[in-house]
Amino acid sequence: MKVFVLGGGVAGLAFASLGRDLDISVIDKNKEAGRKLLATGNGRCNFTNQNFGMDFYQSDNKNFPKKALEAFTNRDLIDYFYRLGIDSTYLPSGRTYPTTMSAKTVRDILYLEANKNASFIFDEEIKDIDLRKKLLISENNKYKYDILVIASGGISLPKSGSDGSVFKILREEIPVRKLTYAITNYKTKEKFSKKAKGTKITGKVSLFVDNKFIKASIDDLIFQDYGLTGTSIFNISNEISLALRDRKKAHVLVDFFPNYSKKDLGKRLGDLLERNPNRKISEILLGLLNERIISDILKRSSIADDKKANKISNGDMDTLLRNLKTMKFTIEDIHDKTNAQVSLGGFDTKFVDKTTMKSKIYDDVYIIGEALDVAGSCGGYNIQWAFSSAIAAVKSIRSLNV
Ligand SMILES: Cc1cc2nc3c(=O)[nH]c(=O)nc-3n(C[C@H](O)[C@H](O)[C@H](O)COP(=O)(O)OP(=O)(O)OC[C@H]3O[C@@H](n4cnc5c(N)ncnc54)[C@H](O)[C@@H]3O)c2cc1C
Repeated sequence: MKVFVLGGGVAGLAFASLGRDLDISVIDKNKEAGRKLLATGNGRCNFTNQNFGMDFYQSDNKNFPKKALEAFTNRDLIDYFYRLGIDSTYLPSGRTYPTTMSAKTVRDILYLEANKNASFIFDEEIKDIDLRKKLLISENNKYKYDILVIASGGISLPKSGSDGSVFKILREEIPVRKLTYAITNYKTKEKFSKKAKGTKITGKVSLFVDNKFIKASIDDLIFQDYGLTGTSIFNISNEISLALRDRKKAHVLVDFFPNYSKKDLGKRLGDLLERNPNRKISEILLGLLNERIISDILKRSSIADDKKANKISNGDMDTLLRNLKTMKFTIEDIHDKTNAQVSLGGFDTKFVDKTTMKSKIYDDVYIIGEALDVAGSCGGYNIQWAFSSAIAAVKSIRSLNV
């Protein structure tokens, strides 16, 4: 029984490497396998995370990913890589990488393993799919399958091959949830000045959608002339993009001092003002904040940079403290679509079996990886999903005694 995998990205490679005893062919429009994989984790491949759970996944069909993730967990993926000869290491954040810190290691080993079970057809773009006649159709060829595994990815980083073409081909036959981009950066209504551009702090960002608290993250936060980026934003990006997609109002509150309560920060500042009555407020803040953002923070607080410490009123102090602990940035739009790391939306999981990844409409079709309406948070959760969904399909197809 011939299994064709459409897409030789992470999920396609996962499927082929795990698919012992199956007769597999993998087709990809690229000239090599796992092109996007090479770009993951800044070229280091953050393939899973020590912190694991459903909170890190987004799908319009909320609990869909649970079964597959529980059946093949982060531990299982780390063990699998170990068996393949890939040792792993992790950062305090839980992000887990190959010890080589090279995505190429993972791509090359997976490709070697996949080649034991599968043949690869590169440089072949599938332009049409006939689900009744079971044909994958390219410009010059037709491929007959018994089982089709769709591993064509989402719409993120289209230059890596996943341009959403398969959604267009199959949209009429398999429902697709509305697509958008996530794990990316955002334009905000309130912006810092050019002087602050590129300044990185460790800050806490708290996301509110329609004024309801959704999620917070403490990590790198970078101020840009268009708005905000950095890991703390990436960590709440799925939820921000979802809100924008659904035309809801989103804003973040930035806490520049996550290690201080507002009261303790007030005491600390009050003490510094008292000890340096003739110093300018901008000078008082020099030891506490990156110099490049001090003017912007004071401007948002309507306090002149050169106002002397002994002239700072209780009202000034209240406004300053409020801004230092909860400065509001209203999210207007996604800034960078072309470099977003994941797509939200995709093939509707209501029409896919959550244990096997088999289509409920066509029982010879499976869908895995980012092509499904499942998006993991930043931190290794998407590669984990590619594997968990791939092994679910492998197990099911194997049980067909093909
Ligand atoms: C810059 C960047 C960094 C990332 N870093 C991480 C990270 O560190 N950790 C993490 O977990 N996730 C990360 N991700 C997300 C992760 O890479 C994806 O979720 C994952 O690659 C999805 O795997 P996939 O196989 O479903 O899709 P893809 O890897 O996108 O593969 C889909 C494949 O299908 C092929 N294809 C599509 N349509 C056709 C067609 N019509 N004909 C033929 N071939 C076709 C494409 O060429 C492509 O090779 C990152 C993403 C980006 C863009």
